[in-house]
Amino acid sequence: MIRVRFAPSPTGSMHVGGVRTALFNWLFAKKNNGKLILRIEDTDIERSSIESEKEIINSLKWCGLDWDEGPDIGGKYGPYRQSERIEIYKKFIDYLIENNKAYYAVYDDNNNEIYKSNKFPENIDGSVVVKFRVNKDGTTSFDDLVKGTISFRNDLLDDFIILRSNGIPVYNFTVAIDDHLMKISHVIRGEDHISNTQKQIMLYEAFGWDIPKFMHIPLILGNDRKPLSKRHGGTSVEYFRNEGILSSALMNYLALLGWTIEEEIFEFKDKLKDFDPNKLSNKGVIFDYEKLEWVCGKHLRKKEIKDLYIEFLSWLNDDKIKYLIEKDEEYSLNVLSICREKINTLKQLKDFSYNFFIDEYEYEEKYIEKYLKKDWAKSLISASIKKFEELENYNLKTVEKTLNEIADLKITSKKNTFQTIRGAILGKLVTPGLYESIVVLGKERVLYRLKRTEVYINGIKG
Ligand code: GLU
Repeated sequence: MIRVRFAPSPTGSMHVGGVRTALFNWLFAKKNNGKLILRIEDTDIERSSIESEKEIINSLKWCGLDWDEGPDIGGKYGPYRQSERIEIYKKFIDYLIENNKAYYAVYDDNNNEIYKSNKFPENIDGSVVVKFRVNKDGTTSFDDLVKGTISFRNDLLDDFIILRSNGIPVYNFTVAIDDHLMKISHVIRGEDHISNTQKQIMLYEAFGWDIPKFMHIPLILGNDRKPLSKRHGGTSVEYFRNEGILSSALMNYLALLGWTIEEEIFEFKDKLKDFDPNKLSNKGVIFDYEKLEWVCGKHLRKKEIKDLYIEFLSWLNDDKIKYLIEKDEEYSLNVLSICREKINTLKQLKDFSYNFFIDEYEYEEKYIEKYLKKDWAKSLISASIKKFEELENYNLKTVEKTLNEIADLKITSKKNTFQTIRGAILGKLVTPGLYESIVVLGKERVLYRLKRTEVYINGIKG
């Protein structure tokens, strides 16, 4: 039975590198009819927080990654929070001490070792820790499924602490105990953990346990080839979510990072059957923000428009526009359909579609300067009002014809005519196609907006 785990430390936001690790674990588990376990590694009590744990869990859910065992299912299998498992770990520490594989050590204020024994130091002043006794002979090796064979010299490793003086065991210890107790068959994680593997294997050997298979995936890098961090830009799932990146796009893009796959645009759940760890690159991969945005644009345009509408609404946190979008669903669907052709993210969709929903929009400064302040502006808008009032059969064809008739009046150039009308009905100069916009807005809104612009021009003239 394949059993893998995702084991985040709740010490901050959910980094995209973490989600990619979770994604590869998820794909591997599902493809093999295995199980994915979520384990919260919070033994660093000073840096761990419940807020961070919540953010990690919400991010995983938003990304569409679910797990079979973990802290979120009513304690059925839990606790899967390491801070709740300290007593379990202590038994294993005792076992190592009893078998001469670990010992108590005491340090004075200058960090000098002043005691070392299997007996608990009853009367000594200083901080007591437990250290694992490293067998310095030979090497520790493993066959990494991505990196190939990796070996470490044991003589280079000193005895290492497994229980801190505050009574909490360290990561390298708890991870080995839990991976064993939770029957993990494959440890899939970031390559920053390669060097920890030596200590973990030594612990497995000390207990006489089977060693799981390891798969270390390359890190995500910034464009300077250093690990992706805040210096490069936003790195958390929350950040991309706020920026209006769709979760399907983020997962698609993360899957592309380091995994050779022929298609470029897909739903990650459809790629299960193709997932093969042998196809993972063993080199660091560069995170390209522009490419992610491009992938997002592709997802935005291929979605069922109703699904996009629902996702857009749940993303928006502006109640006024939310209300307007919900009020007239049919209109909103039409607006989103024409707007999504020119944008890549939900944030851009909001900016681009905003004035379709708000009648009292402001006119862009450069529109006012370049068009509304011209002598011909008022006669052009008045003529347009008249033409649109007369227009009976309102559709794409007749709208196009009407616009051409207005241009034929030669009040100004054709380009000026179209741009002035565009700005009048949407407040700005970059919008979806003019004919489509006029059709979607509908005659009533168009007339309302043209008349509002006429009033505005009168105001300019004083
Ligand atoms: N808790 C570790 C981390 O967040 C991961 C440990 C592991 O996957 O072995 O970096």
